[in-house]
Amino acid sequence: MLEIPEVVTIAKQLNEAVRGKTINKVIAGYTEHKLAWYNGKPEQCSDWLNNKVIGETRAVGGIIEIAIDNCLLLLSDGVNLRYLEKTESCPGKHQLYLQFSDDSCLVAVVQMYGGICCYDGKPDNKYYLLALSKPSPLSDNFSEDYFHSLTVSPEYLKLSAKAFLATEQRIPGLGNGVLQDILFKASIHPKRKMSSLTIKEIDKLFYSLKSTLQEMTKEGGRNNEKDLFGKVGNYKVIMSKKTVNNPCPVCSTLIKKDNYLGGAVYFCPKCQKLEK
Ligand SMILES: [Zn+2]
Repeated sequence: MLEIPEVVTIAKQLNEAVRGKTINKVIAGYTEHKLAWYNGKPEQCSDWLNNKVIGETRAVGGIIEIAIDNCLLLLSDGVNLRYLEKTESCPGKHQLYLQFSDDSCLVAVVQMYGGICCYDGKPDNKYYLLALSKPSPLSDNFSEDYFHSLTVSPEYLKLSAKAFLATEQRIPGLGNGVLQDILFKASIHPKRKMSSLTIKEIDKLFYSLKSTLQEMTKEGGRNNEKDLFGKVGNYKVIMSKKTVNNPCPVCSTLIKKDNYLGGAVYFCPKCQKLEK
């Protein structure tokens, strides 16, 4: 799934590759996908976007927001977007296809699930509005004070570190992917209760969250996710399914996997102790 580092990378690439191009063909909903959702009928998307010019793209949490004249196209985190120089290299299956007047194209393919939502006016998409209302961890507005204000909330103190960071859109665009290295670098077990963290650990978590996401973004995303051109990012993920049973880079204890809160967690049992 695309998270903050990849979405920021793809937004930057879109601004360089397709901004200013004119759309001359739109196909929405070509390949049926039960878990691909559109707002309204996919054909509506074609009516709105055809003959329009691509404007600025922004990352809004885990959502890619593309301004297309008076419309906004929002692609959620489960949508893989590719730019192709020649339309003939377009894959046979897709959920949205935008062809440009110079014969290049953008193709969106939904993986497990994902939203392709087009709006003629202001979006009413609640995830988008929520993400828009919160500071990005890459911005200065996501300050130590802001993070502390989240960590002292009585309802959040009951949560585990994973639940706190990556559920309920508390930090939009931060999900179960980037979470693993953030917690490893903070030496915090994903199941630790937030109420059990010392002030020093909360500071370390804040620092890790900011610096890990900055590094992942600077490297063009993680090496297990692809960018607009189908290339994996340069950030080498430390804790992932590819590194289970490898030695921890800090203490050489073997990296463990556990299933927790609807997804796997990867951690070093020595560096990230559950009980202190
Ligand atoms: Zn370790």
